[in-house]
Amino acid sequence: MTDFDNSYARLPERFFTRIAPELSPAPEMVLWNPDLAKLLGTSDWDAVICAGNVIPEGAEPLAQVYAGHQFGGWSPQLGDGRAVLLGEVATDQGRFDIHLKGAGRTPYSRNGDGRAWIGPVLREYIVSEFMHAADVPTTRALAALRTGARVQRERAYPGGMLVRIAASHIRVGTFQYFTSRGDEEAVRLLTEHVRARHYPQAANTLELYQEIVRAQARLIARWMGLGFVHGVMNTDNMAVSGETIDFGPCAFIDGYSPKALYSSIDQYGRYAYEQQPSMAHWNLAQLGSCFVPQLEAELGGEQPAVDALTEVLNSFPPLYQEEWRRVFGAKLGIADPGEDDVPLIQDLLGLMAQDGADFTNTFRGLLDGSARDWFLDRDAFDAWVPRWQARRAENWQEMIAKVNPAVIPRNHRIEEAIQASLAGDDSKAERLVRVLSRPFTLSEDDEDLTHPPREDQVVHQTFCG
Ligand code: AMP
Ligand code: MG
Ligand code: MG
Repeated sequence: MTDFDNSYARLPERFFTRIAPELSPAPEMVLWNPDLAKLLGTSDWDAVICAGNVIPEGAEPLAQVYAGHQFGGWSPQLGDGRAVLLGEVATDQGRFDIHLKGAGRTPYSRNGDGRAWIGPVLREYIVSEFMHAADVPTTRALAALRTGARVQRERAYPGGMLVRIAASHIRVGTFQYFTSRGDEEAVRLLTEHVRARHYPQAANTLELYQEIVRAQARLIARWMGLGFVHGVMNTDNMAVSGETIDFGPCAFIDGYSPKALYSSIDQYGRYAYEQQPSMAHWNLAQLGSCFVPQLEAELGGEQPAVDALTEVLNSFPPLYQEEWRRVFGAKLGIADPGEDDVPLIQDLLGLMAQDGADFTNTFRGLLDGSARDWFLDRDAFDAWVPRWQARRAENWQEMIAKVNPAVIPRNHRIEEAIQASLAGDDSKAERLVRVLSRPFTLSEDDEDLTHPPREDQVVHQTFCG
């Protein structure tokens, strides 16, 4: 039996709306994660439970309310418009929300239907499980389902649902919601909830903010190291736990360009690859301003709260730079990378950008010399190599093999798996999940998954659910 302990549901009623998932006509399991089920104590769950047609004992379904800046514009009220938080379970690896995405309409659905179609459900399942396997903090996927209903988008698609787990679904936008309403008591309760749940080491609000800033610096550096473009870094899609959340029009870079961008709705490139650190910083500034009133109370006038928060906010760029150096240093097999190694890393990325070298295969190809094949200007690459060799650690091969995946969820492969599932064949999605759950080791049979897309396979745009 699953042991629910629903701490969010114990917060005041204005934090959420209690609501059961809408019934799905014919739930059918598409992907199931038995290891995760074991951890959660949900091994006996079937499609009917995963779809929310039957509520397991101890669950207290609710939709969370939040607000957020969407592409820089303020939305005073968002919330779980197509998702329901079933409850929380405590496990050996911590407490997790169990969340049903695509569960139907809620009071926060606005004009939406509250549903998802199977395409984005499969994308989120595949990408989030890969992120987990690649050691990036992330929400995870327990199950992907077909609901048996049709969902109308640009055409009618099979409806889908994702059962996902997260350390929590509390967002920067959750704080913003209460702050914008002047509800200082709620901000205080939420702050204490987040501190106790995610950062018990933080002694006060300022330290909590510092922990959140640090966690984001770490997270974004990890994304950058995998060539990941989130696509919709709105403040409502940034979890204060430091996990990657809300995989919408996300994608991994094939041929490297720092300006890489896939989302069909991001007209001005606000969330392009190279923008992600500064967008995280911007989001953290919004969070910081939520803490002003209560920090003022805590500091008791000793130091202006705004100054103290600004100082913490200003720690983001150097913290991020340090994490970035660590991530990319490891990718090159450099132990203890320092300031001096930054030009070495930047020069390689510069050459990659010039030639559109495949991001994943170039780094992985440093192991066996095949990196060179991804460049047009081979002389320039050859001139870079001795500088790298001079800095490599003794165990550089081991280091490189551990952090540079051999295989990533390439857009064209995800797209191919979605198309196959639409035609009734889920084996391609299953294969991606299987191979990507061990992305640092590859069997010969799966070598085809390392290939970048041919010109006619390139996915130029990704879409929301
Ligand atoms: P996103 O940026 O995709 O995370 O979504 C932004 C907001 O739109 C959130 O409040 C979602 O719950 C809501 N939303 C997205 N899709 C739907 C849908 N199909 N029905 C209702 N609400 C939705
Ligand atoms: Mg309520
Ligand atoms: Mg969202």
